[in-house]
Amino acid sequence: MLYIENSYLKQFNGSIIKANENKIILNKTIFFAKSGGQPGDIGTLHINGKNINIIDTIKDSENNIIHILENDSELKVGDEVKGEIDWGKRYKHMRMHSALHILCSVIPYGVTGGQIGYDKSRLDFDLKDNQINKDEIQKNINILMEKEHRIDYQWITLEELDRQPELVRTMSVKPPRITGKIRLVKIGDIDLQPCGGTHVKNTNEIGNIIIQKIENKGKKNRRISIILN
Ligand SMILES: [Zn+2]
Repeated sequence: MLYIENSYLKQFNGSIIKANENKIILNKTIFFAKSGGQPGDIGTLHINGKNINIIDTIKDSENNIIHILENDSELKVGDEVKGEIDWGKRYKHMRMHSALHILCSVIPYGVTGGQIGYDKSRLDFDLKDNQINKDEIQKNINILMEKEHRIDYQWITLEELDRQPELVRTMSVKPPRITGKIRLVKIGDIDLQPCGGTHVKNTNEIGNIIIQKIENKGKKNRRISIILN
């Protein structure tokens, strides 16, 4: 999973280790597999002189990254692959994903769900008996976004995470546990939480975060949608 090391890679070379009808697994990939509310990448693989469209990327139950081909193909194990992701789409998802961390940091309640999209994204919060105000959230986000904050990563062990359960903000999504280590995403001194998604390197790449709407989803749940411009 090259995107865990560097989410800015746009192209890569690899080879096929498993092929089954319209699904293939590669020895390495930059294609992000749908998870944690972030959509899977789309893109193109160049194999044996042909261009093959990848229409989605998902994980199987063994955490393998499955590239979904537009059509069935005659690909074989060992075939060399040159691949590229749809960078415009991925980069928008990276900006949106990073923006949701900012949103999360200004609302100190449990996250019950979320979805990242190209045009808009959302997080659902369990407010208990607390109230939130759209203008106030917008104002607090604007204050945070005035400064440029670096986005970095730290790795901790499962035991270290279990000792700091307050780091986990999502009540519905378990953070990915890769080879016994957990990746923490740190945005300046604003936000620190486990996350396996793709993010930009600095908040200045996000642009303006605009609270589009707040909807009631049940008595205590609120859905907050954002757009970027
Ligand atoms: Zn994240």
